[in-house]
Amino acid sequence: MEIIGATLEELEEFIISFGQPRYRAQQIMEWLYQKGVTDFKEMTNLPENFRKELRRAGLSSSVLSIEGAREAKDGTKKYLFRLQDGMNIEAVYIPEEKRKTVCFSTQVGCAIGCAFCATGQKGFHRNLTAGEIVDQVRRIGSDRKTRISNAVAMGQGEPLANYDETLRAIKLLNADYGLGIAARHLTISTSGVVPAIYRLAEEELQINLALSLHAAQDGLRSELIPLNRTYPLATLMKSCKSYTQKTNRRITLEYIMIKGVNDGQEDLKSLSDLAGGWLCHVNLIPYNPVPDLPYQASGDQTLQHFLNTLRSKGVAASIRQERGAEVKAACGQLSSQFSSLA
Ligand code: SF4
Repeated sequence: MEIIGATLEELEEFIISFGQPRYRAQQIMEWLYQKGVTDFKEMTNLPENFRKELRRAGLSSSVLSIEGAREAKDGTKKYLFRLQDGMNIEAVYIPEEKRKTVCFSTQVGCAIGCAFCATGQKGFHRNLTAGEIVDQVRRIGSDRKTRISNAVAMGQGEPLANYDETLRAIKLLNADYGLGIAARHLTISTSGVVPAIYRLAEEELQINLALSLHAAQDGLRSELIPLNRTYPLATLMKSCKSYTQKTNRRITLEYIMIKGVNDGQEDLKSLSDLAGGWLCHVNLIPYNPVPDLPYQASGDQTLQHFLNTLRSKGVAASIRQERGAEVKAACGQLSSQFSSLA
């Protein structure tokens, strides 16, 4: 059993099966999430015999180890984690004045294969468990000795292709006995898994949903994000609008600006048509070059032109300041290739 991925109720049931009182579960949760402890040995208010029993039962109070980390001048720090089966994943810590954000992974690799993405070039290996997802955020908070205020499923993998474990992790990140991150500070970013968007709308969560749009015409979007062939824009937009109607939560449309690919006048017109008249916000993101891929970032003037035009048409829009590009910790740059960062 992964204690780090268990809910309080599950842990209580488990603790009782050891002949221990129910409140021990709450004590363990405090050690795990408030104190960031990774070994039962350190849980000093538990009886020593019980701690030994937990260890003997082969239970995990942490399911990953920090293999390496690199920090950018702006404080952004990229972590390489080793999972118990020897696979690697990455997560990123992004400190800002008012918030401390972790961008976490939900899969080892990714099957979506987006043309511009470092992870997409490596293929899919497996889904992460809820424990492996939550532990990334917990371990980074402990390492930085800070309370993590925001967490985004924007690292490696397509979160909605690992729906059950991602949702369980989101609930643990949000729970009072877990990391206690406010639901409105939790974000899932998807490339557009339509059935999962409908399912998510039914969950009655106050979390944020971001869609990796990146192109507002089917031909180009299918080239950039192959999943668009399965769920083309008309189908995808229908699911997004239904989501906003059901939840009354706006969707963020992420649009990575790639020079000469999706930053022309036609692209801008398609984008403003697609984003106009419903509850969404366009986030324009300068592309971060990935070694061996042919793409470059659009210029500042082009970004500004997109921003001004969208706003003039009544579309809510902003430009995201990228953090951590120097340690390849920015969007689309996570690839478990720490050696290439040297
Ligand atoms: S951008 Fe996201 S969905 Fe696309 S390949 Fe990369 S990790 Fe997967």
